Amino acid sequence: METGSDPAKRIRDVGTAPPGLCYRSAMSVDGAPRNLPIFVFSGLAAASLAGLLLLPAIPQDQGYHQFADERTVFGIPNFWNVVSNLPFLAVGAAGLRRFRDDPATIVFFLGVFLTGIGSSYYHWNPNDDTLFWDRLPMTLSFAAILALAVEERISATAGAIVLWPALVIGVFSLLLWRWTDDLRLYFWVQFFPAIAVIVLFLLYPPKYTGTRYWIAAAALYALAKIFEFTDEPIYSAGNLLSGHTLKHFAAAGACFAILRYFQTRRPVLQSRGPRPVQVA
Ligand SMILES: [Zn+2]
Repeated sequence: METGSDPAKRIRDVGTAPPGLCYRSAMSVDGAPRNLPIFVFSGLAAASLAGLLLLPAIPQDQGYHQFADERTVFGIPNFWNVVSNLPFLAVGAAGLRRFRDDPATIVFFLGVFLTGIGSSYYHWNPNDDTLFWDRLPMTLSFAAILALAVEERISATAGAIVLWPALVIGVFSLLLWRWTDDLRLYFWVQFFPAIAVIVLFLLYPPKYTGTRYWIAAAALYALAKIFEFTDEPIYSAGNLLSGHTLKHFAAAGACFAILRYFQTRRPVLQSRGPRPVQVA
C-alpha cells in the first residue's frame, strides 16, 4: 500500500501548509485556540492524578485469576480464553500491514497484535506475573487511542505530542503496580483517557468521516466489559463459552471497528483554499 497517497497524510499536512496555501481550517485546526483544550486536559489530568493520592492503595484481587471456563482442550489449559485472542493477532497484523505512516496508528495496531500474544500467555497460566504481559500491550493501545482522538478532533501536532507522555504514564502505571501492588495509577490510566476521548468526540467536529466506527468500537468495548463481569453466569447458562471468552471477541471487535475506520475514512474539510480537498 502506497501510504504517501493516503488522504489522511494530506489532511495532516494541512496544518503545516505554507502561507500561500491559506486553508481556513489550517488556522482554526492547528492554531492556538485549538490547543487550549490540551492545556485544560493537562490541568485536569494533573489535578485528578493528585486526587489519586487521597485514595487508599488498590491491590490486585487474586480472585481475578479465577475464570469460569478452565477446560483443557488439545493439551491447552483454559483453551477458550487462550484461543479467543486470535482475532487480536489478525486485526493487529492487518492494521500494521497497511497503516505505518503515523506513530499513533503503529502503536495502536502493534498493541492490538501484542495483546493477542500477551493475553494468550496470561490465560495459559493466569497469575500476576503473566497478567503484566496481558496489560502491557493493552496499555500501549489505550495511549494510542487517546493520541488518535486528539489528532482526529484537535490537531495532528497535539496528538503526536500527547502520544509519548501517555505511553510513559501507561507503562509506568504497570511497573508501579508490579513494584507496589497498587493499581490506583493503572485504573486512572484506563479511566481518564476514556473520559477525555468521549469529551473530545462530543465537543469537537470530526476531521474525517467514519465517526460511526468509533461509536461501534465504544459500544463493543462496553459490551466486552459487561461480558467480563458476567463470566460465570454466561458459562453456567449453556456450558458453551464463558463471559470472558466473549469479552475477548467483543474487544477484538472494537479493534476491528477502529481498523475499518482507518480503512474507510475520508477527510472532512470545509476548504476555501485554492485546491479543493476531497469531501466525503
Ligand atoms: Zn482475558
